Amino acid sequence: MAPNRISLHDKSFEINIPEKEILAAIRQVAAGINADYKDKKPLFLAILNGAFMFASDLMKETNLDCEISFLRVSSYQDMHSTGQVSEVIGLKEDIKGRHIVILEDIVDTGQTVYALLQNLIAREPASIEIAALLLKPDCVQHPLQVKYIGLTIPNDFVVGYGLDYNGLGRNLRNIYKVL
Ligand code: 5GP
Ligand code: MG
Ligand code: MG
Repeated sequence: MAPNRISLHDKSFEINIPEKEILAAIRQVAAGINADYKDKKPLFLAILNGAFMFASDLMKETNLDCEISFLRVSSYQDMHSTGQVSEVIGLKEDIKGRHIVILEDIVDTGQTVYALLQNLIAREPASIEIAALLLKPDCVQHPLQVKYIGLTIPNDFVVGYGLDYNGLGRNLRNIYKVL
């Protein structure tokens, strides 16, 4: 049994979304993707570090011919966005003419994914969509359409299942919210 309360650095967190619910949400995302990408050989681009667990569990639920690759885009420090998005790092694939699905852990202001989208669209993919495990809808400040959403959550700071608080918490199997 996972603990209901944990401490990371100077903060306490309580369980918010148990692993079972996370995995059920991922199965539902995968069902949508499986239906939409039949015969399209999509290339999934997972955003490191946060999306690594989401990407892993989502891939196990796909029944498609597909590829996956990983890239980095932004830094997010403490509990607030730094407001700066760095370059796209680590994308080796030529995405021209490919069907791209971006895998993101959480969309908050939308800035990270928005900047990435602009960068990738310039490389002329055949199509590009976003799959996010978590969405904070009150916070999206950019004209973004997130086609595949695992769970919609309130504006709480969360950790676990890939998401960190200053480096800690990524290894937790459940998602916790700050107290
Ligand atoms: P955005 O650019 O949409 O504001 O923020 C996206 C990135 O900020 C996410 O990929 C994630 O790394 C980080 N982020 C946003 N909200 C949270 C949160 O509640 N917890 C954690 N750990 N990271 C978050
Ligand atoms: Mg992220
Ligand atoms: Mg982080």
